[in-house]
Amino acid sequence: MSLLQLQSIRSFYGQIQALHDISLHVGQGEIVTLIGSNGAGKSTTLKAICGQVKTTGKILFEGNEIQSHPPHTIAELGIAHVPEGRRIFPGLTVKENLEMGAFQVKDKKQITERMERVFQYFPRVKERLSQKGGTMSGGEQQMLAIGRGLMMNPKILLLDEPSMGLAPVVVEQIFEIIQKLNQTGMTILLVEQNAYQALQIADRGYVIQTGSIALQDHADALLGNEQIREAYLA
Ligand code: ATP
Repeated sequence: MSLLQLQSIRSFYGQIQALHDISLHVGQGEIVTLIGSNGAGKSTTLKAICGQVKTTGKILFEGNEIQSHPPHTIAELGIAHVPEGRRIFPGLTVKENLEMGAFQVKDKKQITERMERVFQYFPRVKERLSQKGGTMSGGEQQMLAIGRGLMMNPKILLLDEPSMGLAPVVVEQIFEIIQKLNQTGMTILLVEQNAYQALQIADRGYVIQTGSIALQDHADALLGNEQIREAYLA
């Protein structure tokens, strides 16, 4: 059984249909990547999973239908969304930003334990706990955004363009951390314009074109596919 399964998803912004029958699945322990050009529908697919856009079709998480749940219930089930553009709280400290990720947890000890776990992946976040989120570099803010997602203790992380706007060396670090998270058991659905690097760490990939899935395959096969190379890996 897949951890997450989308069946014939159609999503709408008012009258505009952004997704046309998207079907995909993510198995426990996988990294699956969605690649495609600007406006293809990658972010909308993540929003559909999180209940943030009007959607028809079925979304199954651990075998249960979740498409009619409100966003907070979907989050509580173990689906953490780290949106595009990082969206940390710039005026709050790094520690407060992390705490926001565990807002539903009342037990202080549990919050501290989760924070310690975040620091294992992001030691740099620990060094900056009392600093305002907005004063951190782009890469550090991305790390904080992922860390905040981890504070929910999710079963799956939905990452929307974590490499966006970051210097190549920082992008490298972010991808290494994503890989490390996966190696320690986290299932990941990764949206990326940086298709080459995403496919290098992914198990499988889906290519989205104008709201539909144009191609799906093992990451190695997509990396070796001539059409994909020309369109997305140039
Ligand atoms: P990007 O990398 O640019 O975010 P994407 O593949 O994630 O691209 P989406 O953001 O999912 O693409 O957008 C899919 C389509 O939906 C696009 O045609 C976009 O213009 C449209 N769209 C996205 N958000 C909205 C919105 N809030 N209102 C209306 N249309 C939207």
